[in-house]
Amino acid sequence: MITRRDLIRAGAAVTALGFDLTPAIAAARELKIARTTQTNSVCPYCAVGCSVVIHTLGDKSRNVQPAVVHIEGDPDSPINRGTLCSKGISLKEFIVNDRRLTTPLHRAPGAAEWKPIPWDDAINKIARHIKDTRDRSFVEKDDQGRTVNRLPGIAMIGGCTDTNEINYLLSKFRFGLGILSYENQSRL
Ligand code: SF4
Repeated sequence: MITRRDLIRAGAAVTALGFDLTPAIAAARELKIARTTQTNSVCPYCAVGCSVVIHTLGDKSRNVQPAVVHIEGDPDSPINRGTLCSKGISLKEFIVNDRRLTTPLHRAPGAAEWKPIPWDDAINKIARHIKDTRDRSFVEKDDQGRTVNRLPGIAMIGGCTDTNEINYLLSKFRFGLGILSYENQSRL
């Protein structure tokens, strides 16, 4: 049986004989991503915010389910210049995963189980909780009678994949409500 080490030795021998294996390696790589659509995105795992290129197979027809076949570092990114750490390089398993959550889960007060609910129900529940909490905890004036219009009952967090545009909208949203407590993973 040919082992992995045998193959490495054979490759080294071919190189030693003067053959350039670069085109063969490049061709093998191109086969994997030859017919894919490329989408630029950001690794969600840590505050570095490395840029990634997601390769998806599928011709965008209505009856074709697109499939992510490869994810790599974006060589055009000034942040990671094409590299990814061991977590980032495993991103495909994060997307193509039977255990990935694709619908909101809700645990009713006192219940032990989380249950899937439709997106519309989740959005309505969130809106209801925000309104009720704001009604309960909004502070219009401080102890000295100064207008503060702040909402200490709600805090917000953001993630490293939030773009400038998302953060702009989140700021509008939280300042509109009076939310002061805000933390973001990236601090970019
Ligand atoms: S690839 Fe690694 S270093 Fe880069 S954002 Fe993802 S987890 Fe962080």
